[in-house]
Amino acid sequence: MAIQLSESTESLMQKVKGKVLRSGDQAYDEARRIWNAMIDRRPAAIVQCADAEDVPNAIRFARDNGLEISIRGGGHNIAGYSICDKGVMIDFSRMKNVRVDPKTRRAYVEPGATLHDFDQAVQNHGLATPVGINSTTGIAGLTLGGGFGWLTRQYGMTIDNLISADLVTADLRKIRASEETNQDLFWAIRGGGGNFGVVTQFEFKLHQLGPEILAGLIVFPFHQAKQVLLNYRHFVESAPLELNVWAVLRKAPPLPFLPVDVHGREVAILAVFYSGDMREGENLIRPLRYFGDPLGEHIGPQPYVQWEQAFDPLLTPGARNYWKSHNFTQLADGALDTMVAYAATMPSPQCEIFVGLIAGAANRVPVNATAYSGRDARFVMNVHGRWDNRSQDEECISWSREFFKAVAPYASAGGYVNFMTEDESERVSAAYGPNYSRLLKIKEQYDPENIFHLNQNINLGATQETRQRR
Ligand SMILES: Cc1cc2nc3c(=O)[nH]c(=O)nc-3n(C[C@H](O)[C@H](O)[C@H](O)COP(=O)(O)OP(=O)(O)OC[C@H]3O[C@@H](n4cnc5c(N)ncnc54)[C@H](O)[C@@H]3O)c2cc1C
Repeated sequence: MAIQLSESTESLMQKVKGKVLRSGDQAYDEARRIWNAMIDRRPAAIVQCADAEDVPNAIRFARDNGLEISIRGGGHNIAGYSICDKGVMIDFSRMKNVRVDPKTRRAYVEPGATLHDFDQAVQNHGLATPVGINSTTGIAGLTLGGGFGWLTRQYGMTIDNLISADLVTADLRKIRASEETNQDLFWAIRGGGGNFGVVTQFEFKLHQLGPEILAGLIVFPFHQAKQVLLNYRHFVESAPLELNVWAVLRKAPPLPFLPVDVHGREVAILAVFYSGDMREGENLIRPLRYFGDPLGEHIGPQPYVQWEQAFDPLLTPGARNYWKSHNFTQLADGALDTMVAYAATMPSPQCEIFVGLIAGAANRVPVNATAYSGRDARFVMNVHGRWDNRSQDEECISWSREFFKAVAPYASAGGYVNFMTEDESERVSAAYGPNYSRLLKIKEQYDPENIFHLNQNINLGATQETRQRR
């Protein structure tokens, strides 16, 4: 059924410099496709902004017509909040510019940039800042939820490197948030997601890196998984911050350095990253090979930008995905046993359980310094339920949920909002822990009507309802 609009999309088209797409337009279906193929929604209008000036027009149009607003950066969010049914999708896929000032070591980044757009631009100057491990992820959603990756041990979360952000607020003001101006808002957007306004530019500080780093994979047989994880736990306690190692349990992809008969069988993988002196790195990673009897390895010097793309082939868009995640301050024996037990029953070749190491600089930031509150988390564990056919939905979702529940007793409080699915809204307040009440106050100040609610929502209404029920 056609939606009745008080302002027509034709008049919106005249106001914006970018494009407005509607159902039936040639590019509409491509524009509404996001990373997780489980999400299939049809916005009334997709506003592909050409610059920051288009954003207030899109918000005004949505407000005047009583339509929901979704905001798309890289379209990777597992919950699929970047796209809405019958609402207005503010789409930044045409705003990907990354400007680097090598003298001040600053990057000015438009919100449609992917991690690859960002890494490539800053690496042209031998610079980097911590971002995620899959290069097609959007910088916008990743940053607003916290952001971590290979460099987090050394330089903290992505938000710990954010200097300022330019936003358009719910009442259409264009403002800057930084340590100097609108400090409350700056605190809130460092972890509080897209709850407070639409970011039109991020400013990051940068660090010298590479361009070559030492990185790669070591693959062990699955029957040694527990032993590998125990050794891993011990090893990372004293590993320098320049060294990061993530542990992954999954069925082996057809990697050319693995014997063919291993392909498709469960394995334990160590993903290794070292950003210091190469020779020193070789010495540091040598003990990893003795965690078990490796089936194969592929480690060597390579450009940082190449390593940032290494996992892209396993994380292509178009598959069905259901994720669950926990934070850990330590990896108890019971947690490792549970991981190994569930990894032995993975229902699809694309499922995996990974343990990302973030211990280091991020833990030194006080919990109340930013909205992101997982400052005690030393590991982030994610279970990727991932499969191709709808017929497997129930089996793969159940497996992910059951594992998540079984390992929960060993997890620390909180959680990472960027890994939460749509059915986890009840976890949001716990994810922010002691910071949630301040987030509610700032939400009331900047978006009292909750027009930015398609996100892991800081929901004033839910809090008021709870108060009334009491
Ligand atoms: C394959 C894969 C790998 C990942 N790896 C990592 C990782 O290594 N480290 C990590 O920290 N996370 C990782 N993530 C999680 C990732 O950080 C989140 O999915 C994040 O939301 C992606 O951002 P996006 O811009 O691509 O998403 P989108 O879906 O486009 O946006 C997500 C949400 O962010 C908000 N938003 C986006 N743009 C704006 C804006 N301009 N202004 C205001 N709000 C906005 C909106 O609420 C939107 O719904 C990964 C995700 C995937 C799918």
